[in-house]
Amino acid sequence: MVMENSPASGGACFVVVGGGQAGAVAATTLRRLGFDGRLVLIGAERHLPYERPPLSKEVLVSPASAKTTLFSAADYAQQRIECRFGVAVTALDALARTVTLADGECIGFDKLLLATGAQARPYPLLDGLGEGVFAVRTLDDAEALRARLRAGVRLLVVGGGVIGLEVAASARGLGAEVCVIERGTRLMNRAAPLHLSQALLDLHLAHGVQVAFGAELTWAGRDEAGAIVLEAADGRRFEGDLVVYGIGVTLNDGLARQAGLAVDDGILTDAQGMTSVSGIYAAGDVARQRDPRTGRHQRQETWSNAQHQGEHVARAMLDGSSFAPDLPWYWTDQYGHNIQVAGEVEVDRWLTRGDAAGRRTQFGVRDGRIVGAITVDNGREMRPARQLVAAAAPLGDADALLDPTRDLRKLATALAATA
Ligand code: NAD
Repeated sequence: MVMENSPASGGACFVVVGGGQAGAVAATTLRRLGFDGRLVLIGAERHLPYERPPLSKEVLVSPASAKTTLFSAADYAQQRIECRFGVAVTALDALARTVTLADGECIGFDKLLLATGAQARPYPLLDGLGEGVFAVRTLDDAEALRARLRAGVRLLVVGGGVIGLEVAASARGLGAEVCVIERGTRLMNRAAPLHLSQALLDLHLAHGVQVAFGAELTWAGRDEAGAIVLEAADGRRFEGDLVVYGIGVTLNDGLARQAGLAVDDGILTDAQGMTSVSGIYAAGDVARQRDPRTGRHQRQETWSNAQHQGEHVARAMLDGSSFAPDLPWYWTDQYGHNIQVAGEVEVDRWLTRGDAAGRRTQFGVRDGRIVGAITVDNGREMRPARQLVAAAAPLGDADALLDPTRDLRKLATALAATA
């Protein structure tokens, strides 16, 4: 592969800021694709880059076997990726093309990738309580919570989103008493259709979790015994020993703003993942990429997006290729059930393909086309279901599609071809 600024033409330096999944995947992909110049990967956390999905699940429930690290230190060394972990970038000068680190180091770059991600949206009302209050965004967060979770502990979970529900399920598995406090009227309202919210509610209730909806917290304090007390605007009181909150994220877009890059609910990028400043790219949770097919920008907070953009931006940094954003896709594991959701959730109707064992696949249909898919304990069908969604395949012969004895892979290949 021929590269601009190849080492032969003076030695290019590429810098990746952000030691999360998108950053680590991009750095290793650059090497895999043949980039031979200086490559620096900088992450504010002291850990080697890790995957976040296990933090609210295995890291809490079965820490001894939880695997989070993406690549070993030896992998980075062998690939000549210079790592700076545990040190934040404090300044980006887009004109001088330098980044400055908290320890004073200044690194010049030819190309830069911002994969700075997001952090748990803070909740000052709860943070003010001090000890016993946790967000679950980082490995340190999850390990600190794990040290306090045990049978009988009373856990208040604020936010009935994906973090709140996964933590609730994990905590129940450890024997904690759990109450989920949600401001809205249903669970996982951001990323799940109504019927899935209801199914998740049933699941949590069946496992003994209390769920309070429409609870806007207005006061937080402690009683004489030191227990945490939360009060909602309508007078409801919640008592517990620990609080976990998951109320969404705040983007780490400060460097981009400071450097004058275009930011609007994410660092705006074109279809190559390049920001408004030539040679500076963005990927992962913090990036809002233009879809070359629709011209619209979209931002996704998922594992699969971090993986997809990490790989494709690395390629684009080398050869200028455009790429389409990944089809939205996430999974969650709760009480031993695996639920995956792909594509759109606002649809005309959902059709279910199920088997006697309770595994099921659902297709979201709009205007006669398949635009969304859900699998429940049926992950093996998610790949062909995504194929159908990606192609916005016409529903066609619904009877065949909904017959669990028919091979979905074959049906999907045939239907997607007619799209
Ligand atoms: P979320 O947006 O999924 O859910 C936040 C929930 O908190 C919503 O239900 C919202 O109504 C509620 N809420 C907001 N403010 C509140 C308040 N003041 N009081 C009570 N409830 C309030 O966000 P999250 O669960 O914090 O997840 C954070 C990030 O982690 C997301 O980017 C998510 O995609 C990611 N994540 C993904 C997975 C996965 O893919 N399986 C798992 C965990 C986390």
